[in-house]
Amino acid sequence: MTPTQPSPRIPFVDLATQSRRLRPEIDRRIGEVLDHGRYVMGPEVGELEKELGRWGGGASAVAVSSGSDALLIALLALGVGGGGNQRDAVFVPTFTFTATAEVVLLAGAVPVFVDVREEDFLIDLESLDREYEAVRAAGVATPKAVIPVDLFGLPVAEQPLAEWAAARELEVIADAAQSFGASRDGSPVGSLAPITTTSFYPAKPLGCYGDGGAVLCTEPEPAAVVRSIREHGQSADRYDIVRLGVNGRLDSLQAAVLLAKLTVFEQELAARRAVAAGYGERLRAVSSSTATPWRVSTPETDAGVESSWAQYTLRVDDAAGRPSADTRDALRAHLDRAGIPTAVYYPRPMHLQPAYESYGLGAGSLPVSESLADRVVSLPMHPYLDQGALDRICERIANP
Ligand SMILES: *Cc1c(COP(=O)(O)O)cnc(C)c1O
Repeated sequence: MTPTQPSPRIPFVDLATQSRRLRPEIDRRIGEVLDHGRYVMGPEVGELEKELGRWGGGASAVAVSSGSDALLIALLALGVGGGGNQRDAVFVPTFTFTATAEVVLLAGAVPVFVDVREEDFLIDLESLDREYEAVRAAGVATPKAVIPVDLFGLPVAEQPLAEWAAARELEVIADAAQSFGASRDGSPVGSLAPITTTSFYPAKPLGCYGDGGAVLCTEPEPAAVVRSIREHGQSADRYDIVRLGVNGRLDSLQAAVLLAKLTVFEQELAARRAVAAGYGERLRAVSSSTATPWRVSTPETDAGVESSWAQYTLRVDDAAGRPSADTRDALRAHLDRAGIPTAVYYPRPMHLQPAYESYGLGAGSLPVSESLADRVVSLPMHPYLDQGALDRICERIANP
């Protein structure tokens, strides 16, 4: 390559390299579905559920149509919603993807937004407790459940949250849409909460070629209800409708793709961890650098915690260490000019979204999330990001 040739654009997520690598196995699996012709609830779905259960530490896994449907089905299975003039309240972090909040309203309950922690973007127990007391004092909705979100792939510490929820008789549904494959102290996602939901949207760490998701239950009883709700609330007899359900099945073709991808998932998770470690080594220096107009804080994980690294997300402050959306946006433009794509997850917390703002207390009410929305930037992250690309990205960040 001559110096005058521009470097090729680095993919933010590289599904093309992965599909080239797995093409023979994916073709074989898809061919089998075309041969048997059972496009809905074919044998691949059951086979996938066994594999997912194994990955989830022995959980009962139910494959469903998306991560959003997984959340909705979990809420329905727990009877969260409300009747008459009393609606259930479900506590959700405001710094998340819209699905976490939307399903609460679809189930007939009200979302109560909670702030997150500056250092790891995860639900803040102190804020949760404050919001819980406020709901109790207001008396208009009944606290019923909390949905912690494993943002960017980092599993929420289940123990303190489980104890807090148990003392108040609240259900916990772990939104692990971004964290399938992650673990805490050797326990994999799927075994950390009574009910865990995940997503197989193509860009998630384990993605299919369309929409897909799963509900994982540590006990058989809710799993049976989840299974029934996934297929219109049927009992074992297909025309016996015993509860309200949805059409929430995962296609056999998507299950076939996921089975092929699971053959390399362990290697891909290790590759993601190596990329994250590579970013950390190269970027920690920029956190105190005086040579750049920005200071970046890298995501750090505690000992014993393995993130699935769905995203590698920095916090960006100005040279004086103050929060500054302009500085974050300047860094993004600086990277974009060098062929390095970035993304902002998420530019607006849920309590400030037009669709949900009547459920929150407005700007200033959940300050950490509001500040993070102005400061976060996610860098390219996928298992096929090589050392050359890592160097290029990090050098660009260190050299304004
Ligand atoms: C992606 C995502 C979802 C929704 O998953 P879909 O499969 O796209 O419906 C829910 N919650 C979080 C945190 C997500 O990132």
